[in-house]
Amino acid sequence: MSVRITMVGSGQLAQMMALAGIPIGYEFSFLVAPGEDTRCVDNLGQIVVLEDNESPQSLFARLGEPDVITVEKEHVDIELLTNLNKFCPVHPNPNALEKFKNRRDEKLFLQSLNIPIAPFYSVHDEGQLKNAIATLDKPIFLKSEEEGYDGYNQYKITDDNAEEVRNKLSFPSQWVAESFIPFQREISFLAARSKSGDIVFYPPVENAHHNGTLITSLAPAPNVSEEQVSTGQTYLKNIVNTLDYVGLICMECFVCDGKILVNEIAPRVHNSGHWSAKGALTSQFENHIRAVTDLPLGSTKLIGISGMLNLLGVTLSAEQASAESTFLTLYGKTVRPRRKLGHVTINGDDYNDIKSQLESLRKLAYQE
Ligand code: AMP
Repeated sequence: MSVRITMVGSGQLAQMMALAGIPIGYEFSFLVAPGEDTRCVDNLGQIVVLEDNESPQSLFARLGEPDVITVEKEHVDIELLTNLNKFCPVHPNPNALEKFKNRRDEKLFLQSLNIPIAPFYSVHDEGQLKNAIATLDKPIFLKSEEEGYDGYNQYKITDDNAEEVRNKLSFPSQWVAESFIPFQREISFLAARSKSGDIVFYPPVENAHHNGTLITSLAPAPNVSEEQVSTGQTYLKNIVNTLDYVGLICMECFVCDGKILVNEIAPRVHNSGHWSAKGALTSQFENHIRAVTDLPLGSTKLIGISGMLNLLGVTLSAEQASAESTFLTLYGKTVRPRRKLGHVTINGDDYNDIKSQLESLRKLAYQE
């Protein structure tokens, strides 16, 4: 009998995980909110729209009685997943997902494990905002506790605009105010953990952001010391083991004066691991699917060096991205400004060559 996986969400991450699971014989259903755009997963499995006041039992039946439920995003209904967990395993477990749904909870959790992060304050009222502005190094990053990602729902507070931001905000609302970290580079660590506790790591990836959103990745990140790799992996191992986390996880970090500070945890496959679909023996997507279905994890050995360019609100034709070691992935979404429409991966054996190819494709795609 075929293994059935329910994916919560229907975006490009759900698409790429399904495309990793279907060739090994798995079936999928996708749990979506009313009105959610399902274009990325149409034809990849059954689409099940959430209904108000439905019992978990009835929803589980409508999902096709999956063997396991997993997620493509962190903004999920924890109570719903906890209820569904009575019928089948949910990986990562709802308790782990809850830790990363709210930035404040996430930061407190990381602090409890002695993992270095940027100094921050909780901001739940005007007085706390004033205090944060007076105390923290500027520019201050003011991030919404929930529903914020890729620089959305954020303000950068400087001496010049502090008054303006204060006037814009209305309370009650929940924020974390974070000191600016004068980092030299940003890197991410990706790992998959199986039910039995085995962990595989991808090498650290170097990331560049534009307006808070990832634009390019380079894997393996050049010039990361053995000590930094080992420190990052120790942090991530500690996180997944503490939470009995099963699946793929990403830890985004700042490197500042040689030290690693964790910015954010994504309890799912991550944009900074997309290169692995073409650049590693086992992609992050397949390793997630393997982990949640209790298969042995696949090798994370690299084919060479990979570079990834995100297509944000822009696209490229197959012809424009058709060089020998260049691979285009489009998600099939409609075009909207800043929307993640696809990415390009370039493989090679020379960092400078890959960087210059990424730059040429970037100019072409963004018409700079
Ligand atoms: P986030 O939404 O937390 O993932 O932030 C998006 C990007 O904004 C990060 O990848 C950084 O480039 C930048 N950023 C966020 N927080 C800070 C900070 N405290 N100091 C410096 N840059 C930051």
